[in-house]
Amino acid sequence: MKKMLVLVGTLLAAMTMGVPLRAQQAPPLDELKKTAIAEVDKLQTFTQQMVDQIYSYSELGFQEFETSRYVSGILEKNSFRVERGVAEIPTAWVATWGSGKPVIAFITDLDCIPRASQKPGVAYHDPIIDGAPGHGEGHNSGMAVNVTAALVLKKLIQEHKIAGTLKIFPGVAEEVDGSKAFYVRAGLFKDVDIVLGVHVSNEFATSYATGGGRFSGLVSVQYFFHGKAAHAAVAPWEGRSALDAVELMDAGWNFRREHLRLQQRSHYVIINGGDQPNVVPSEAAVWYYFRELDYPHIKELYDLGNTMAQAATMMTGTTVDHRLVGSAWPTHFNKVIAEAQQKNIEQVGMPQWSEADQTLAKALQKEIGAKVEGLKEKVKPLEPPVKDQIGGPSDDVGDISWNVPMVYMLYPANIPNLPGHSWANGVSMATPIAHKGSTAGAKVQAMTALDFLLKPELVKEAWEYFRAVQTKDVHYESFLAPDDKPAIELNKEKMEKFLPELRKYYFDPSRYKTYLEQLGIQYPTVRKEK
Ligand SMILES: [Zn+2]
Repeated sequence: MKKMLVLVGTLLAAMTMGVPLRAQQAPPLDELKKTAIAEVDKLQTFTQQMVDQIYSYSELGFQEFETSRYVSGILEKNSFRVERGVAEIPTAWVATWGSGKPVIAFITDLDCIPRASQKPGVAYHDPIIDGAPGHGEGHNSGMAVNVTAALVLKKLIQEHKIAGTLKIFPGVAEEVDGSKAFYVRAGLFKDVDIVLGVHVSNEFATSYATGGGRFSGLVSVQYFFHGKAAHAAVAPWEGRSALDAVELMDAGWNFRREHLRLQQRSHYVIINGGDQPNVVPSEAAVWYYFRELDYPHIKELYDLGNTMAQAATMMTGTTVDHRLVGSAWPTHFNKVIAEAQQKNIEQVGMPQWSEADQTLAKALQKEIGAKVEGLKEKVKPLEPPVKDQIGGPSDDVGDISWNVPMVYMLYPANIPNLPGHSWANGVSMATPIAHKGSTAGAKVQAMTALDFLLKPELVKEAWEYFRAVQTKDVHYESFLAPDDKPAIELNKEKMEKFLPELRKYYFDPSRYKTYLEQLGIQYPTVRKEK
């Protein structure tokens, strides 16, 4: 009883002094951030192993089975609750730890790029397995960033009895913009207050609103044409060619392209062109990405695509059905979070690149004919968003950003001036460049989460921006029709073809310190001057 009175007395004293209880329990924010930085540094080997392990898995979108098992397993071992197979996607999951508000979510991609297999640390095209998928975008490093940060946060939250819940999401099938609209539809972000996403880059930067204006939203649609088979020489008049329909749709689109807004980007690949020339193709299919700057314009392109497909069936006597396999809203990031995050980026600063790192970067830039300037040495200042957006790539985190205040931090784990989506973008991704960049990223993730865990008013401000500015006139509407399902069969065959070979090269941290060591690669390996 006496103890109780003392406690009540202390509480009263705290309240009358106007000091929030939270501040009494936890050390000042600045001090906690310094501890977070030191704790992330202690986990450098862990971070490096995650970067290397996921690099070696090299799994395409929707087929991230090994990667998901590995990452969710680490989280489970660290007492996160893991729910698997969420949003009807077998490789998707949510890992949760902690209790109470705020709920802070971390998200980053897992999947890789077709045909991008590459030996890390080698400054010219040298695949580990010829033709195999590879991390030619650098998605192997994001989970190392987020999981490292989450483990450090968990420790600090426990030690200082800070209220809050951590959630980790995998960005399944980002390369085909295949999952996030389904996550949103499944309500996975309903109770989330703040989303801290990360993406690999050669910069250390964050942005708000439309940022540099170089992002578009999109729909990704496959058109399946059905005709009638016949002997192409004996009775061609009996046949109806599905391939003709594909070609006519493509020709129509390419003529119409001239009369579309300059902000649009559209591209296609023929995924089925028939079997052999002497059989009139009864089945053919083409896969389109329609990109634009906002929902109404994307919808317009989608409708136009559907009209063209119908028109092609009328010309060819075929039929068509289409399938939405991906969609993404244009991203819009939160100003309040970005401003807090920028300060942390500046405090952490760029990693210290070694001479070997710079040698690799410059040799690769030279090899591909890009500007030779090595790795970036300075963090990027926070810039106001541009007014005239020019459009460009898409990321399906856009859908999340229209449902919860979110930012997308870029961390410096790659080499500047590369083409993207190619073997060249894999070169640095299991080397000290990616290891150091991921450690730097993890520090900022942990520090920014601490900002929002310790200052509830910041969470409120972020939501005020979200409600009063971002969504004042624009309301989220999913591109998904109620019966659209995630395209979980995508990449299945491609992955199965390479799995037996890929397994031989999985990173084994019980035998080797690094993946470079396991592959016997001298770091850096550059072309001998002739
Ligand atoms: Zn990406």
